[in-house]
Order: sequence, then structure tokens, then C-alpha cells
Amino acid sequence: MSGVIDASKAFEVLESYNRKDGISVDELMDSKSKGGLTYNDFLLLPGRIDFPSSEVSLESKLTRKISLKLPLVSSPMDTVTESEMAIHMALLGGIGIIHHNCTPEEQAEMVYKVKKYENGFISDPVVISPDLSVREIRELSSKLGFSGFPVTENGKLPGKLLGIVTSRDIEFLEDETVLARDIMVSNLITAKKGIQLKEGNRILKESKKGKLPIIDDAGNLVALISRKDLKKNLDYPLASKSADSKQLLCGAAIGTHPGDRYRLEKLVEAGLDVVVLDSSQGNSMFQSDMIKHIKSTYPDLQIIAGNVVNRMQAAQLIHDGCDALRIGMGSGSICITQEVMAVGRPQASAIRAVSEFAAKFGVPTMADGGTQNIGHIAKALAIGASTVMMGGMLAGTTESPGSYFYRDGQRLKAYRGMGSIEAMQQTGKAANASTSRYFSESDAVLVAQGVSGSVIDRGSVTKFVPYLMSGLNHSLQDIGVKSITALHEDVNKGNVRFELRTASAQLEGGVHSLYSYEKRLHN
Ligand code: IMP
Repeated sequence: MSGVIDASKAFEVLESYNRKDGISVDELMDSKSKGGLTYNDFLLLPGRIDFPSSEVSLESKLTRKISLKLPLVSSPMDTVTESEMAIHMALLGGIGIIHHNCTPEEQAEMVYKVKKYENGFISDPVVISPDLSVREIRELSSKLGFSGFPVTENGKLPGKLLGIVTSRDIEFLEDETVLARDIMVSNLITAKKGIQLKEGNRILKESKKGKLPIIDDAGNLVALISRKDLKKNLDYPLASKSADSKQLLCGAAIGTHPGDRYRLEKLVEAGLDVVVLDSSQGNSMFQSDMIKHIKSTYPDLQIIAGNVVNRMQAAQLIHDGCDALRIGMGSGSICITQEVMAVGRPQASAIRAVSEFAAKFGVPTMADGGTQNIGHIAKALAIGASTVMMGGMLAGTTESPGSYFYRDGQRLKAYRGMGSIEAMQQTGKAANASTSRYFSESDAVLVAQGVSGSVIDRGSVTKFVPYLMSGLNHSLQDIGVKSITALHEDVNKGNVRFELRTASAQLEGGVHSLYSYEKRLHN
């Protein structure tokens, strides 16, 4: 048939198109002609898949000196990151940044808990006094949902270990006034402080007991290994740990005022690895002074400065000596900064401008705010971010602070902006932590830059974060790159191509034309 080209010439013909569909990242971000863009405004075009998604590496830089196996960070918000979240984010390969809407001592205690955490060991087991009655033990057990309690002389931790009361000891007891001291098992198998988890688990298996108490030389209980955890046998091969001490990595946020120097001192004493200078507008003399102070006082501490959305802000903080930049102003799910202050930038434009600039100086960037799903995380990484910070996506998990409650049949948790009136009015010494983020600590009238709300239960991060990771692996596989480094390189070379999405293209990309559709929990 005349005019039809032989199939073997497909690639030659492709060359004549300059091999390229779509546009390069620079063409995409040409904001002078298009205005600011955010995640939903564009898509990446697919590449070639010639490797399994399990071969994708998501390793990426958090700061100049710290790399993570998983580029995910939990936000320093009082409804998102305290010790539990920070421990689990680090175990899973990311990192948590502990919020500072609390006293310096409380924040340092949370950092200390993360640094002292050993997987498999319960480092602060609930203990009881020998004088607790069976009725009180039953009440405690139904409140906490477990039934094995070590008994210590003073009823506290640390305290001399006397015995253990388990459900078997109280199950059939009718007299509820009997005391723990009369029913506890005191002939115990214990292990010495410093024992490795593997050895502890072996003793536990052989002893056929439910719990293995760990005691120090003076016989004080310091930790516990539980048979239940042994069965779960949770292994965290990606865990973010410091190379030398093998402790989990932990971050914390502070403000940028002179008073925050004391807070930082406490955090460093507790073992802090990376500090986030928490400000909605990072280009201030306060932040410049704080960076200089930290670099001269704690030269090993990594600093994530911000927030920034343009090159001018970034240049100042890079010049001051920061080790990474946090990007975002007004994009957070609970944020009203752009509306109230008229200042900010659509997140994708902000990420590209700052990341491309910062990369010239070897400074990694973190995209902060506005991510609602795996696709948004993948896009943030594609246009130059090295890591992604999440608030709302993690707020409804088991590991976030606060309790679940029900409304309209939904299981929810509270999630609030740190610039919400509620967060700024937090009582006690902590009050200025939240106001200082918005430079409002001396204001007689507080102007909210955030709101309070609630988010749906997402279950445990131990399931949710691996789900995000697997999704990201598939996303990079679709793009045809095996790592975040390769993604950045191929985007910069113009090999990874983009396309703008019109309003109707966005509708097409979502679910449509169904008679009924139940929105999936994880989007
Ligand atoms: P999200 O992941 O979209 O929920 O956004 C979380 C991010 O929003 C945080 O990491 C902060 O940078 C930012 N943020 C937290 N609280 C406020 C607020 O009250 N106003 C504006 N931005 C906030």
C-alpha cells in the first residue's frame, strides 16, 4: 500500500517528531504565560517499563547530610506529630518532625522517646502497684485493652520488679478486693538491660511466657518484651537510623526568636538530628540570625529552613547556611493564608522554582502542604522536591495525637492548622510556639491563617505508609525511571514529558459516568 511506512521504521519516524510528545518541565512552568500551577493542573506522560516496580528506589535526601529510604515526612503540627508518629515514620523509612506547641521540656521528652526507642522493646510499660485490687486491675485492663501488668515496688517505672499479674491470675477470682501482691507471679524469668532483641525473643520463645521483663543490675524494671509483638514480628528494613548510634532519626520544629535557643538546647540534649525552622514566611532576619546561631553552636545539627516559595527567599536562606528548604505557602489543606494575607504561591510553581534553584547549591527541598494522594507526592518529586511533608494525609492515623470520635457514622480525628485560633490559643508556656510561626505573638487581636476540622480514620501508618510507598514505586515505573535521582535527571534533561490538564481533562481523570460510586478511603 503506497504511503504506508514499514513498521521497522517506527523509531526513525519518531525521531522526526524530535521524539517528544508533551512539553518539558520548563515549558510547563512558564508561569508568565500560564499563571501559577498546582498538582492537579498537569500530568506526566508515561515512559517505558522494562523493570519491575520492586526495583524502584525511593531513597532521597532530606538535607545535605541526611538521606531517607522513603521521601516522606510528617508535619510538625500538634494533631500530626508527637513521639508515636515520629517513631513509626522513622521505622518505615521516613521521618517525623515533632511539633513545638508545647513547653521545651515536653518537646524534648518526645524527642528523647524517639531516640531511645528500640523496636520490639516496650520502653514504658504500664506497671501497677502491689496494692492495686483485682477490681482496679480489671478496670485498667478493660480501659487499655491488654491484661499483663508488671508489678513494681513503687507502682512506677523505674521501680523494683516484684512480679507480674496476667489475665490468667484474675480470670476466675470472685473476690475483687484481693490485692496484686497476693496473686502476682513472682517466680519470673527476666533478662538483663542491654540484651539484644533477638536474644530476648529466643528466651521468650523458650520460656513459653507471655512477657519477658528487662531489668537493670539493681533489679529495676526498665522495659518489657511481649509475646504478642514477637508474633507480629514487625521488621523495618528501611528504618531511618543514624549511622553511628543506630538510633531512629528524629526531627523537631522550633520558632525563630531568641527564646527558641533554650528550646533548641533541650532538644539537642535529647538527641535531635534535624531541626525545622518553623515559619510561614522564612525570609526574615530572625531566621537568618537563628541559622547563624545554630551553625556556630551545633555544627552537626542539620537545618531545614523555610517556608519559601520563590528564589529570592531561597537565596537568602541558602546564603545563611541552611541544609534544606521547606517549600509551601498557603497550599496546606487547613490553610487560609493565601485568602487572608493575599500572599503565597500555587504549590507546583513554588516547588519547581525553588528546587531548581536550590539544586545548584546541593540543597535538597521538601514540598510541604497540599498533597492529597499518591499522585500529588509523585508530581512533587518529579518537579524537583526531594521529600514531601504531609499533615492532613497522616492526621487521621492511629499514630497521630488525639482520640477518634464518631460523627454521622464516620470515625474521625481532629486536625487543625497551627495558625488556627484554637492552636494559637493553646494554653501555657507553649502559647507562642504557634503564634510565632505567623509572627503574631505580640498581636492583641489574633488573625487566623488556618482552620480546625476533622479527618477520616486512615488506620495505622504501618499499613498506610507502605501503601503510599508501593503506589510511588508504580508511579515511577510508569514514568520509566528507577529512582528519584533518575527522575530528577530525566526531568531536567527534558526526557520526562509533561502535559497541562484542561478543566475537562481533570474531570476525565477522575471517576465519571458511573451510576453510583463510593469514594475510596485512600483516594
Ligand atoms: P497538608 O498536608 O495539606 O494538610 O498541609 C500541612 C502543612 O500546612 C503544614 O506542614 C504547614 O506547612 C502548613 N500549615 C500548618 N498549619 C497551618 C495553618 O494554620 N495555616 C497555614 N498553613 C498551615
